[in-house]
Amino acid sequence: MTTELVVISGKGGTGKTSVAASLAVLAGPIVVADCDVDAADLHMLLRPEIRVVHDFYSGREAILNQSLCVRCGLCADLCEFDAFTRLQDETGITRMDVRLLACEGCGVCVRHCAAGAIEFPEKFRGHWFESDTRCGPMVHARLLVGSGNSGKLVNQVRRRAFELARQHDLAWVITDGSPGIGCPVIASLTGATHVLAVTEPSVSGSHDLLRLLALTRHFSIPTFVCVNKFDIYEPAAREIEHMTKAAGANFVGNIPWDRAFAVAQQEGRTVVETDGPGARMIREIWDRIREQIGQATQEGNHDEPA
Ligand code: SF4
Ligand code: SF4
Repeated sequence: MTTELVVISGKGGTGKTSVAASLAVLAGPIVVADCDVDAADLHMLLRPEIRVVHDFYSGREAILNQSLCVRCGLCADLCEFDAFTRLQDETGITRMDVRLLACEGCGVCVRHCAAGAIEFPEKFRGHWFESDTRCGPMVHARLLVGSGNSGKLVNQVRRRAFELARQHDLAWVITDGSPGIGCPVIASLTGATHVLAVTEPSVSGSHDLLRLLALTRHFSIPTFVCVNKFDIYEPAAREIEHMTKAAGANFVGNIPWDRAFAVAQQEGRTVVETDGPGARMIREIWDRIREQIGQATQEGNHDEPA
């Protein structure tokens, strides 16, 4: 059975990916899932060798067939998103066009076009990959610029990560979750066995953490919390530790500011593959998490992503 630890943060830039990559190295061999699909960067630290590339389609878009269009203009009248353009001269409409970036894929124009001039194919949004890393198999993705619907892609990435864990008989999936509390984060958390929230010692860090803890409490997911760069403002770090305990979550450590994070990133390594105070603290955090998950890890207790 597989245990999944999803590493999340209230916003980008807290060091979530550095921590997730470090835990993957410490825990390996495991399966790694990069579910921060809107701004994927785990690959820069784990340097995956891509084995399989999949296309990702999500939603639909209106494509106009000019040869069938009778230029009645009804689609433009009905489209709530002003996706249609009428090119007109004094004799009337000379041509209709769809601005694809404006099309929201609602399908109204398709249903009402009596000439059947609007096709409605699935929209290509990017790729997802199955790769090998020094920690074990990795599933990750790259969305096209401006692509939405990343919750569906997150679900796809996690589902494949669980399949690979089963195929390779690996006990852990470590997931780099999306930042924030929106749809992709919820997709990252659904069915997860444990969460590690990485935050920073600031007012916004505390605020974001409270929202995350409310979210994980809602889904009844046991949650660990650590503060990155705690020594930048220690009073806020103490406040976060207090807040974590009051919320019934598990505080697992304060990571100091350490230049080794940036140096390791530039070299395509994780900080735990260097030596320094940040690496030592992440090792301690991993030991605490593993210890506290304890028996549940060995017995296995998860629901796979839907
Ligand atoms: S509703 Fe159909 S036929 Fe009429 S302008 Fe739009 S695409 Fe052309
Ligand atoms: S599918 Fe909806 S949003 Fe897209 S062009 Fe048609 S009516 Fe507009």
